[in-house]
Amino acid sequence: MNKAIEPKNMDTKVLPGDNFYEYVNGGWIKEHPVPAEYSQYGAFTILYEENQKKLRSLIKKVSAEENAPKGSVAQKIRDFYNSGMDTVSIEKMGIKPIEEELHKISKLQNKKEVVAYMATMQRRGVSPLFYFFADADQRNSSMEIANLYQGGLGLPDVDYYLATDEGSKKLRDAYVKHLTKMFILKGENKDIAAKKAAQVIAFETKLAQVSFTRVEQRNPIKNYNKMSLAALKDTVPGYDWDIFFKTLGLKNPGDINVGQLRFFKGLNKLMEETDMDTWKAYLTWNLMDASANYLSKDFVKQNFDFYGKTLSGQPKMQPRWKRVLGVVSGGLGEALGQLYVEEYFPASSKERMVALVNNLRTAFGQRIEKLDWMTDETKTKALEKLDAITVKIGYPDKWRDYSKLEIVPGSYFDNIIAVREFGFNRKLNKIGKPVDKAEWGMTPQTVNAYYNPSNNEIVFPAAILQPPFFNPEADDAVNYGAIGVVIGHEMTHGFDDQGRQYDKVGNLNDWWTEADAKAFKEKTDKLVALYNNYEVLDSLHVNGKLTLGENIADLGGLNISYQAYQNSLHGKTPAPIDGLTADQRFYMGYAQVWRQSIRPKAMAQRLKTDVHSPGEARVNIPPFNIDAFIKAFNVKEGNKLYIPKDKRAYIW
Ligand SMILES: [Zn+2]
Repeated sequence: MNKAIEPKNMDTKVLPGDNFYEYVNGGWIKEHPVPAEYSQYGAFTILYEENQKKLRSLIKKVSAEENAPKGSVAQKIRDFYNSGMDTVSIEKMGIKPIEEELHKISKLQNKKEVVAYMATMQRRGVSPLFYFFADADQRNSSMEIANLYQGGLGLPDVDYYLATDEGSKKLRDAYVKHLTKMFILKGENKDIAAKKAAQVIAFETKLAQVSFTRVEQRNPIKNYNKMSLAALKDTVPGYDWDIFFKTLGLKNPGDINVGQLRFFKGLNKLMEETDMDTWKAYLTWNLMDASANYLSKDFVKQNFDFYGKTLSGQPKMQPRWKRVLGVVSGGLGEALGQLYVEEYFPASSKERMVALVNNLRTAFGQRIEKLDWMTDETKTKALEKLDAITVKIGYPDKWRDYSKLEIVPGSYFDNIIAVREFGFNRKLNKIGKPVDKAEWGMTPQTVNAYYNPSNNEIVFPAAILQPPFFNPEADDAVNYGAIGVVIGHEMTHGFDDQGRQYDKVGNLNDWWTEADAKAFKEKTDKLVALYNNYEVLDSLHVNGKLTLGENIADLGGLNISYQAYQNSLHGKTPAPIDGLTADQRFYMGYAQVWRQSIRPKAMAQRLKTDVHSPGEARVNIPPFNIDAFIKAFNVKEGNKLYIPKDKRAYIW
């Protein structure tokens, strides 16, 4: 049996106070360079990999049922997977699956036709310019409304288009090369391909100029602009919304949330000044980009060369079965998820989680009552919100109905389109109806967890309830440090800089006194500064504002779970294990969850795009704000990670 904390994974030559991440994980990191088919590798990746093997064996079992009745879930999983593995047919088809659509784009005559065509693309899973979907109304969270959200960029972030440093310029050149090669694959000659590539990046740069940054996207108030269709037409008259909604088949979209006003107002000018040639190049590119992975291998390879190799530094593609499995697990997520939990998720795990979550909730409540910076008035509201959090564990009570999704043997691409249209219609049908609060936003086989502010709920899919997160054989200290902190982390999201703006029923609705809000801001500013100062790669820093919500959640998670663990001990002190005290093992259980090897290119991309701090910072900053940790590892002034008391963040 593996120990919950393996001494060989540590690097005891490093002092915990100098680099806690290395101290706990140094040995592991040395032994686990990133495998060629990954851009990063850690606890999440390992579970993901094990999961893929489990899912494949489930698919194999299902595939053996040759007589699965047409229309059954088994038939759909089998035929979808097999169609994706049928490379002979896929190669023979080449670009054929998208030829008809490419032809339609080439025949577009005017802007009205462009808008109508863009609406049909939305239906088929391609989102030129922006995303369109149903979501809970952020101020009336029991109802679904239509949402428009900025998009339409081929590079991962606005910054890639606008930054002027050498590295960013190089990446833009590489992107233009990629665009050119894709147009050549489509059959254009070199000169035309280069011209179209130039048109695409110029157009996308204009989109980037009016787009919100990722930090701006974290402000829920700024991203909430609900208006009627008439008001939308007034605000963005340059875009023909009547044609757009009519083509979608949505006669009355009701009120619409226009996520980023600056972006959508920017479309006015863009619609006016863009010529038909550029529109055709841009839409052709959007179609090819969204289709490449499901076409013949020249497309798959070119797509990987840019998005995998160049952007993330990943040398090798994953084997085909893993990629296809990922697609099936996405498209038929809950169908596969149902088989997954039947086989791999013990009922006992669910019971233990329910008990743990209750302990965490109690501990969080105790901490709120004791906060020295919050008035009683706000505390009462905070406790009400904490009490109201809904908890979902393992898998949904009610499984998604796939009966309207038709999957056929043979064409992988047709199946992809069927899955996308099914998903789109599902969402479209929600508009104007009550939110189905029983629904899940992740499949059970996803190694992750989430907090959803508009439902005020925390959700833990079955797949995260495994070691090193949740280890039935580990001592309590380690489990509270790992899954306990994950639970506390998700609960804290309801009280981070975004989540605190939502009330107990999930509406954007300020329940804070002014003084409490000010005190909170002062405290979280300290956290912003600590992360801004943290250097990850040479000269690259964490973005403290982009990652603030996650960082508040990490710090809160640690504090709350530690309190819950103390409660569980009833004043007793457990004997050390392998020379490590219970308090030390608690923090080490946390630290080993975040061990990770990562390629520099992937790190650089993450620092720009990910709201989570890199694993290293998640381990090397939050604990150093906590007195119990400082005591447990005897951290002293002069240690590299030591934070003077007045700079520490004491929040939840
Ligand atoms: Zn989080």
